[in-house]
Amino acid sequence: MSQNLNVGPTPKTIEGGCLCGALRYRADFPPDHDWADNSSTCQCTQCRKNLSSLFLACHRIKPASCFQWTTDTSTLKHYRASKLASRPFCIECGSTIGYFPAVEGYDYVCIAVGTVDALYLFGEGADGVVVPKEGFGRALVNGLGPNLWCKNEIKGVTDNIPLLNRSERLQEE
Ligand SMILES: [Zn+2]
Ligand SMILES: [Zn+2]
Repeated sequence: MSQNLNVGPTPKTIEGGCLCGALRYRADFPPDHDWADNSSTCQCTQCRKNLSSLFLACHRIKPASCFQWTTDTSTLKHYRASKLASRPFCIECGSTIGYFPAVEGYDYVCIAVGTVDALYLFGEGADGVVVPKEGFGRALVNGLGPNLWCKNEIKGVTDNIPLLNRSERLQEE
């Protein structure tokens, strides 16, 4: 299944937010966080349309209490495409922040990794000490966790992206 790919430096904390900046969050990772298993992608139609992108790269944060909003949430709304989860988004700029389970017993949230600040994602403005120059992008998105809804892949487009082929490929979820 998972190849033994080095995920690079791993963060204790990351911050991110929506495009306009009205919604900001912070996530803290426990010391035993599994960087491979918690990185996943999804090509389902709901993710594709919700993100306006061919696939979702997400990272699961658990327990859910490790995720917190750091701004007021007056522009936060939750869209529910199904009973299973809600998709928090900013009503000002439209950024979707992630995928939050809405059923009992699922104590985690998934963040859409595209909302993570450039500092943490690829080291923009990093000092090399608190955040390494390369950032933590590979720890957050590495293709070593499940790739969901591969039956929706587009021949010649999303079927030959290494990230989406590195690990377990599930036809649905
Ligand atoms: Zn916004
Ligand atoms: Zn999906």
